[in-house]
Amino acid sequence: MRPFRYHRPASSADALTALGAPDSVAFGGGTDLLVTMKEGLAEPAHLVDVRHLRGARDITVRADGSARIGGAVRIADLAAHGVIRERFAALAEATSLVGTPALRNMSTIAGNLCQRPRCWYFRRGVPCLKNGGTGCAAVDGENQYHAILGGGPCHAVHPSDPAVVLTALEATIELLGPNEARRSVPIDSFFEGAGSNPLGETAIAHGEMIEAIELPARSAGGVQHYEKVMQRGAWDFALVSLAGIKRSDGEVRLVLGGVSPAPYRVNQSVEEDVASGALDDESADALAERALYDAAPLSKNGYKAVQAAALLRRAMLELSRA
Ligand SMILES: Cc1cc2nc3c(=O)[nH]c(=O)nc-3n(C[C@H](O)[C@H](O)[C@H](O)COP(=O)(O)OP(=O)(O)OC[C@H]3O[C@@H](n4cnc5c(N)ncnc54)[C@H](O)[C@@H]3O)c2cc1C
Repeated sequence: MRPFRYHRPASSADALTALGAPDSVAFGGGTDLLVTMKEGLAEPAHLVDVRHLRGARDITVRADGSARIGGAVRIADLAAHGVIRERFAALAEATSLVGTPALRNMSTIAGNLCQRPRCWYFRRGVPCLKNGGTGCAAVDGENQYHAILGGGPCHAVHPSDPAVVLTALEATIELLGPNEARRSVPIDSFFEGAGSNPLGETAIAHGEMIEAIELPARSAGGVQHYEKVMQRGAWDFALVSLAGIKRSDGEVRLVLGGVSPAPYRVNQSVEEDVASGALDDESADALAERALYDAAPLSKNGYKAVQAAALLRRAMLELSRA
């Protein structure tokens, strides 16, 4: 591993100065960053620990129902937070399903959103697109865990459970950058280009950090649901997952995880049909088929389309009757 300097700034201004140096990255719990460094996939010269900045570990729920989650809030604290469990139940559910208790106690929500994909070609240093190569090794290779929707040129899927729910909840990522400039990026734009950017999966520019995540009042409450299919019962990434939300205003949002380089929002006309009234089994089947119309499984991951259809059917029936 390349030698590096660890920084523990006490103010945002100091953090931004440190992050502005070449080869400088933000450090959350280190549960992915240190692994990628050991694997030789990242070689930062400076690690800037952003956990001790003012407000970084705060969860603020406002009277109107909206919430602000500091970037360094631990996954375990989100899963256990009473008001998050009450108003953003799908987020509490998704965070409670992340990895192991030790990982949830160590890792932060910002680090979770910025973790690198688990694709075994990438992680093992095979010269694929993310490792300086020219093609995606999964296309003609071992692609059991890769994308069936929106893949390409890279077919790795985004591994985060919370990202799927935050997309359904219309979260905004609050970024703080050089000269303390702030910008708010809707979460779908935050992950735009995840399959085509070889060096990262997010819209973060060098020198920026995630200060907080904002959840709008319109996403609080209603019916919220997160379901995750894993190869084994615990401590595993999603093969396929689904966040299904029916907001208090009646709007439905359905977002799939594990199927695409970024959380995949289902076609809005399908969401509108789910919102419009009680479905029967036959119409739920037809809607699931429509939702997955663009699915293009690779040679070994057709099972993901079957799993996604099953999760969609179950959630759509539940939400349409709520
Ligand atoms: C065995 C195992 C099982 C796992 N299972 C799951 C699972 O089921 N579901 C799931 O969702 N995840 C899972 N994970 C991923 C785990 O949740 C991540 O390792 C973790 O969320 C990363 O968080 P961290 O705070 O440790 O980030 P770090 O490792 O510190 O950082 C990860 C990335 O985020 C960047 N970063 C950190 N903080 C900021 C910030 N404030 N602003 C900008 N960039 C930042 C870092 O620069 C780095 O690029 C698993 C991991 C392991 C090792």
